[in-house]
Amino acid sequence: MRVKFWGTRGSIAKPGVGTVRYGGNTSCVEVRSSRGTLIIIDCGTGAHALGQSLLASSPTGTRGHILISHTHWDHIQGLPFFGPLFVPGNDWNIYGPKGLDESVREALAGQMEYTYFPVALEQFGATVRYHDLVEGVFEIDDVRITTRYLNHPALTLGYRLEADGATLVYSTDHEPHSRALAAGGGQMGGQDERHAEFLRGADLLLHDAQYTAKEYPAKIGWGHSPAEYAVRMAQHAEVAKIALTHHDPLRDDKSLDQLVENLRAVLRSCGSTLEVFAAAEGQSLEVEPSLARRPNHVAVETNARAAISPVPANQSVVLALCDPVSAATFAAAVEAEKIPLHTFSDPSAIPGYVKAEHPSMVVLDHCPPRMDGLAICRAIRNGSLADSQSLPVILLADREDTAAGETAGVTEWIVKPFTSSYVRTKVRAWILRTACRWVRAPIPEDEQGRLSVLKSLGILDTAPEPRFDRITRLAAALFDVPIALISLVDWDRQWCKSCCGLEAGAISRDESFCAHVVHERQIMVVPDTLRDPRFADNPLVTQAPRVRFYAGAPLILDGKCVGTLCMIDTRVRSLEGPAIGLLQDLRDLAVQELKQKI
Ligand SMILES: [Zn+2]
Ligand SMILES: [Zn+2]
Repeated sequence: MRVKFWGTRGSIAKPGVGTVRYGGNTSCVEVRSSRGTLIIIDCGTGAHALGQSLLASSPTGTRGHILISHTHWDHIQGLPFFGPLFVPGNDWNIYGPKGLDESVREALAGQMEYTYFPVALEQFGATVRYHDLVEGVFEIDDVRITTRYLNHPALTLGYRLEADGATLVYSTDHEPHSRALAAGGGQMGGQDERHAEFLRGADLLLHDAQYTAKEYPAKIGWGHSPAEYAVRMAQHAEVAKIALTHHDPLRDDKSLDQLVENLRAVLRSCGSTLEVFAAAEGQSLEVEPSLARRPNHVAVETNARAAISPVPANQSVVLALCDPVSAATFAAAVEAEKIPLHTFSDPSAIPGYVKAEHPSMVVLDHCPPRMDGLAICRAIRNGSLADSQSLPVILLADREDTAAGETAGVTEWIVKPFTSSYVRTKVRAWILRTACRWVRAPIPEDEQGRLSVLKSLGILDTAPEPRFDRITRLAAALFDVPIALISLVDWDRQWCKSCCGLEAGAISRDESFCAHVVHERQIMVVPDTLRDPRFADNPLVTQAPRVRFYAGAPLILDGKCVGTLCMIDTRVRSLEGPAIGLLQDLRDLAVQELKQKI
């Protein structure tokens, strides 16, 4: 991947003699994969010059993708001045964090309303598509992108780009979760550890470093990191190279040089191999895979493009705070997001309520002896329901206790005082996280070998054959289901050799139920998709064919699982005992037929 910085300034553009070397334009980064995929991250004022450069090299026919971290001005102000969007024939996709009741398109249109700008969003000449993102994974051509919410007083996504064997992470605007870590002490843990996992093993990390540790105490709650924290996170996450960015408008070239020099001296003194520099406007570099690669993926990821709407439906927040000021701020934030709120004056009733009512998040004070939030959290987690384990439990306190919180099962600490915009963002992020019920199947460990066995069958994209159709017809009749398939899971799609009750065709691997069977290598029965967090928001469930029941048996050849024999119903069903045996028998027949092909 090749990276070029077009804007590295934070908050407001700051041109002038003091910022000539590091630049005065706000956030904008150009990324190109070796196969030519063009991705732009953020559209601050730096996007103007980037647009001009793209127009100069190819006046028409440009295709590109814009990832927006959040819709604060310094990250979107260049968008209405980005020339390629106005050229008919150009093709652009714009991605950004989904709000609760607002799409990324609506948020971007706001700054181009009549009062603020003479041209409206609808007047772009190019074909422009908008994509709402939540936390998860998605792909743009040859680039795999993971998204994570950052800690900022607006819903903000960090982006992790993987292509050509190299990893680039863009992580601004972000503030440390722990006050102790921000001050240079404290233990890594909780949400900061989760942030480190997102950065893990990056070959190049672009990180918010607006402040110094000395300046930070006066800037708590503004949503930015001290440079020292950024470097500590990079070290902890075994990053190869860190580029400090989102430079404060008050930091001139000389003081940036000084800041980098100080950080390098500290790294040298502890023998660290981490490279640190300050990103400079106009600077361009190649992101190369470092020698020591580490596995850096959570096994199961939700789909970042999950359609989760309407979000506030079935969501609710439980609140028990003894401090009336915090309680009022929190209640106002929850109401502003149009989410029902349940307030408790006696917090001991909460664990029982959680068990019965399944709220979306719980917010508690931890100010013993008046209220022991840790004890209530433990009681919630002791509820045996699976729901109560994944429920976000947020504790408000004067200082965080990460270690005790982890033992008790606290999801996140919010340290007082806090602003209402921070609280709104926390509520949004946790509601969106819990609302997303669509998980892509993990890629099996033996994927390469599996694909070569599948390819060796020579069966993909061949015409239907009676010997396979016989089996799916039998399955449909035996089990009285409307749909039975022999499906094969290719690297990016599921393709059906035989379709009984469904029109032939391929679907994306992201949506594929069978891809889960291919990963698990055993029979999978989903009695009711709407009650399964892996599938409830899958488009095959929410739209036609409205899958409600699924049962799939793995087709294993030469020890590799190439696909499934599966059945689908639009009704809730079960499959037990002897019926499982019958499904296995039919599956064995399908495997026999596939073997004839080798
Ligand atoms: Zn910013
Ligand atoms: Zn911001």
